[in-house]
Parts: sequence; C-alpha cells; structure tokens
Amino acid sequence: MKISQLVHLTDAKTCPRLVVKVGSALLVGKDGAPRREWLTALVAEIAAARAAGQEVIVVSSGAIALGARKLGLAKGGRGSLSDAQAAASVGQIALAGLWAELLAAHGLTAAQILLTLEDLEDRRRYLNATATLGTLLAAGAVPVINENDSVATQEIRFGDNDRLAARVGQAAGASGVLLLSDIDGLYDRDPRQPGAVRIPVVKGVTPEIHAMATGGSSSGLGSGGMTSKLQAAEIAELAGMALAIIDGQPTSPIATAMSAERGTLFLPRGRKQARKAWLGGRMRMRGSVLVDAGAAAALKRGSSLLAAGITGVEGDFQRGDAIAVIGPDGETLARGLSEYDAGECSRLKGRHSREHEDILGYAPRSALIHRDQMVLL
Ligand code: GLU
Repeated sequence: MKISQLVHLTDAKTCPRLVVKVGSALLVGKDGAPRREWLTALVAEIAAARAAGQEVIVVSSGAIALGARKLGLAKGGRGSLSDAQAAASVGQIALAGLWAELLAAHGLTAAQILLTLEDLEDRRRYLNATATLGTLLAAGAVPVINENDSVATQEIRFGDNDRLAARVGQAAGASGVLLLSDIDGLYDRDPRQPGAVRIPVVKGVTPEIHAMATGGSSSGLGSGGMTSKLQAAEIAELAGMALAIIDGQPTSPIATAMSAERGTLFLPRGRKQARKAWLGGRMRMRGSVLVDAGAAAALKRGSSLLAAGITGVEGDFQRGDAIAVIGPDGETLARGLSEYDAGECSRLKGRHSREHEDILGYAPRSALIHRDQMVLL
C-alpha cells in the first residue's frame, strides 16, 4: 500500500508508523508560555491515532522558546548559541513534562529522546536509535524527541527539527512524516505575493521546487522555514517515506487538514536498501571527489567509481568516510563511502587501476567507491 493522498498518512493501514513534528511557534505563545489548549487538542488526536493502531513518534521543538522566558533571555533565547543551549536545558524539562502530562491523561507513556546530528550520522549510533525507538513503540510508549540543543555545538547540530524529524522517521522505519507548520504547505512563490498557489502534491524535490521556497521562518520563534522543510522532504523521499506540510495552527490541526485535504504531500520514491537510504539522508560529507563526464555517465549506468575518472579531491577524509561525488558541471551526483583516504585518492586520481599497486605499494581495492556503498542522487 502506498501513500498517494494526504489522508493516507493518518490511516494505520497505509501508514502504520507516523512522525509528527511540532514547531516552536505552535507550542509556545508569543509571551513565551506553552499553548496548553492547543497542545491538549493535538495530544487527543495523537491518542486517537494510537487507539486506531497507528504508532506515533513526536518530534517537538519549543525547549529554547520555553527556557528563554524562564531565564529572561532576549531574542527568544536565539541571540547566541550559548543562550540557546542554556535556554534549551531549562526549557526541555518543561517541554517533556508537558507532553508527559498531556499524554498520561490518555493513558499513554511519553518517552524522551534527545539526539544530535552525529547520533544519526554515525551508522552504529543510528542503528542503536532504531532499536530504542522500536522497543519503545512496541511497549506502547510515545517517543517525544528533540535535538539535544544543550550539548550540540554548531558543527554537530541539525539546527532545525524538520530534518531531525525526517531522519528520525527514517531511523524508525516510519512510512510518513507530518510537519505541522505555520503555513498550509509549499507555495509556487512567496505566499505573501498575490496569485501564489499552493502545490498539493510534489513528485520529487527538483531544483524548480527548491526555487519556490522563500527561506526564513515567519514566526521568528522556530528556526525551520521552507528551506529546511524541503531538505526534510528530500531525506524522506530517498528513504521511501511520504512527508506532508500542513497548517498546524487550527485546533485539532491534523483532522482539520485531512478533512480539507489541505497541505503539500511529497511522495516517496521506491524504498532503497536501508543502508543506501541512510547514506542518502546523511547531511554532512567529509569531503568530495570531482569526476569527469565519462565517470559521471558510468555512475548513472550503475558502475562503481574508479580512480581513473577522478579529476580532483577535496577535504580531509579517511577510509570509510562519507564523501560526495561531484560531476563536471558542479552538481552532486552521488554520495558514498570512500575506500581510500583523501591522500590516497589524490595519488590515484586519473590513474588506471593497473597502475594502483605500484603507486600505493600495496594491493589496491577494486574501486574508489564501490557501487554497493554509493547512492545516486
Ligand atoms: N530544538 C529547538 C527547540 O526545542 C528547535 C529547533 C527548531 O526550531 O526547529 O527549541
């Protein structure tokens, strides 16, 4: 069964496991206090979904906004990274407490998980998160996930919960991700412009689709904006999950969007092998190799990447690190795990396989990136 309409996301048969992402602006009022009534209605929707057999994972923002108020920090706690980290550590307690209390009113147990980017970029930690989520869901709990903002420094941050939600969905083997936003979907241009039209269904996040996003969150409370939602949609698409953006503002936002079929639904591509999907959803590459037109064509035919087609090497990566493969026009063609470190790649660049043993002084590997360790974009 496949998700081809918005409403399929709320059907336990088509979407047995769903991630619901709630942004800061929905959860926290302009005065910095939680919007309890709104959240109570949303939790009732989540409880109804669980009762109908759908497993739900919540990705909730709001820690920074809630904590900023308690600590009296300016700019909603987003004035500096250290402010955000301090605010998050205070606000996360309140946030988790709120979810736990409201879920408990429906007899549901909340389970908190705080993740950093690295937790999901490292394959072993990613698989560990997968196992924990599976156990929690099987035990009937509702995982409530946020970024571990208090410890995540700039380099290891998602920075927005949209991409976190997509990666969590992937780790959990979810079928769908629902992003509750302050807007009811993706528009073909800045939605404030006259004549802007909402796109109901997107088949593939192409450069044209990216061009429609205007960036920056309108509320000033969250950090997402449409750009990060499209990045989340790309991760979801590669992982074989559907993703939808709906307006989170009404009371009972999920039912409201479903009955009106109002939102933007990003359709999944066919499910890739799990390891390849994880690779495709990775956000940080350790480096890149540039390839010529011949190698680019060979990759598209499904071949491994050979050193003979490499024209340049960038970054300081080790063997086994994820790197990008960049085509002659500067576009990223693929991502994969390098069989060599950056220094070895530079030495082998443009050289035929039969020369490799002499250059390296040891038996070479069959390819620079094996096709099993590579995902085409
Ligand atoms: N993790 C942040 C928080 O809880 C929010 C990130 C976002 O706005 O997407 O406040």
